[in-house]
Amino acid sequence: AYVVTDLCCGCRYTECVTVCPVECFHVDETMTYIDPDNCIDCGGCVPVCPVGAIQASYLLAPDKVSWIEINRARSAETPTIISKLPPLPTAEERRKALSA
Ligand code: SF4
Repeated sequence: AYVVTDLCCGCRYTECVTVCPVECFHVDETMTYIDPDNCIDCGGCVPVCPVGAIQASYLLAPDKVSWIEINRARSAETPTIISKLPPLPTAEERRKALSA
């Protein structure tokens, strides 16, 4: 499955949810999560994320591996999202900092 990492936290652009063919994104007040039981590994969400927050689980750096379980747990606790939301107020600032 693919995994949303901490880079989404505080940004939550939600471009990802508009391209997912199987509606496997969930959302809370800080970021999105992928339900690993629904993800079909199409990879479509990876290039549309403005901050590069989504990665295939097998490509995660060691310090990001914990996000596999976080995505599984949080997607079970949060609602599905299928339509784009406005980015969080901190998104632009965070995106610029990440690309600097
Ligand atoms: Fe959805 Fe494909 Fe991304 Fe999985 S890899 S979350 S199926 S868009």
